[in-house]
Amino acid sequence: MVSRKYLEEWDKNYFWHPFTQMKVYREEENIIVEKGEGVYVYDIHGRKFLDGVASLWCNVHGHNHPKLNRAVEEQLKKIAHFTTLGASNVPAIVFAKNLVDITPPKLTKVFYSEDGAEAMEIAIKIAYHYWHNKGEKQKNRFITLSEAYHGDTIGSVSVGGINIFHEKYKPLLFDVYKMPSPYREAVKLVGREKALDYDTTLLLIEEVEEFVFKHHQEIAGFVLEAGVQGAAGILPFPRGYLKEVRRICDEYNILMIVDEVATGFGRSGSMFACEREGVEPDIMALGKGITGGYLPLAATVVSDEIFNEFLGEFGEAKHFYHGHTYTGNPLACSVAIANLEVFEEEKTLTKLQPKIKLLQEKLEGFWELKHVGDVRQFGFMAGIELVRDKETGEHFPYGERTGFKVAKMMIERGIWVRPLGDVMVVMPPLAITEGELEWFLDTMKECISLL
Ligand SMILES: *Cc1c(COP(=O)(O)O)cnc(C)c1O
Repeated sequence: MVSRKYLEEWDKNYFWHPFTQMKVYREEENIIVEKGEGVYVYDIHGRKFLDGVASLWCNVHGHNHPKLNRAVEEQLKKIAHFTTLGASNVPAIVFAKNLVDITPPKLTKVFYSEDGAEAMEIAIKIAYHYWHNKGEKQKNRFITLSEAYHGDTIGSVSVGGINIFHEKYKPLLFDVYKMPSPYREAVKLVGREKALDYDTTLLLIEEVEEFVFKHHQEIAGFVLEAGVQGAAGILPFPRGYLKEVRRICDEYNILMIVDEVATGFGRSGSMFACEREGVEPDIMALGKGITGGYLPLAATVVSDEIFNEFLGEFGEAKHFYHGHTYTGNPLACSVAIANLEVFEEEKTLTKLQPKIKLLQEKLEGFWELKHVGDVRQFGFMAGIELVRDKETGEHFPYGERTGFKVAKMMIERGIWVRPLGDVMVVMPPLAITEGELEWFLDTMKECISLL
């Protein structure tokens, strides 16, 4: 066992952390996690923290779950990995069938990868290649939304729209058509109170439809998150927006590509967020909660209509030229199977409903705080936007790291959170109890009030 002193030193000397300003990180004291139990994690000094962001939005049933542990252990005794390029393995087959059973009926074929960004890369490549195989080679552009986030690889960044992350890489990206962010545009047009109304959707969708009417011949797919722009700061779509996009895609022969990486596996209150509007996408990207937060796995699930366009004799070279070393990894797939079983056994979705309601009630109380400019909820996720001036909506300067200041106070009180800029994020594992959720929100409120 390496001593704590060396761990702290080596962490700062050798480990380049994701989305982290390492100069600042190296000046601070950081949490090095050693173990987890339920919704809590323990660091190398034995300090205990509530996991307030579900390990970056992926943990579902808690850490160190006996059934999920067992699934990995049992599979490990058989085989850890074997390629799925032209061969197969047992858990990958079973989980593909499981996914097809629970995703919208139209989606029948599963393409595996390891992370959400890859699932989206694959979605984009499949959509492009589909039209190519159909002989409609002019359909090679994508419609995307401002403020979208689909991951950090070059293709996923190309369809993303968060300036602070994406602007720098512009010369490396392919061109897309960008529509306004539904929530941001809605607030601008009708104000916060009416932003999520169905009438607002109709207002927004007019511009979208006008654009599609002019350009549909060159559009391969419409790419969007499943009802909420997560990384942008939890920005929900107005009611009916997804459904209207589905209608437009049907009318103008465009593939609807829905990114359920953040919303999938219960986070929205349903297994998948698109169920809430009865929408069946043509392509759906899944990740994060897919293994309950255990192992890297993602999936791009597509319709028969799409899959069939890739069928042909070998010499026709119509097949999908894409794959990764660990595609369909048996350990990851076995824990993904167990994850779904736990949803059933623990009645996770049923038990989640009162927690969503409690979250809603507790969020009401944040409006009274001097530095809270907006409070947004989508299922079991929420964003509380901090502002310097409530009246004008003026933000704190970026360099002040106000969100991080609040996070730091919460960490001192035993709750680990990671804000999105100055948006405080509420995203605990679905397994959190109502009592723990109240403590979480009361603590967050107290810390914001201390600003
Ligand atoms: C997190 C996220 C991704 C990227 O997933 P990674 O596993 O981090 O690559 C893509 N889309 C959405 C909506 C996400 O929230």
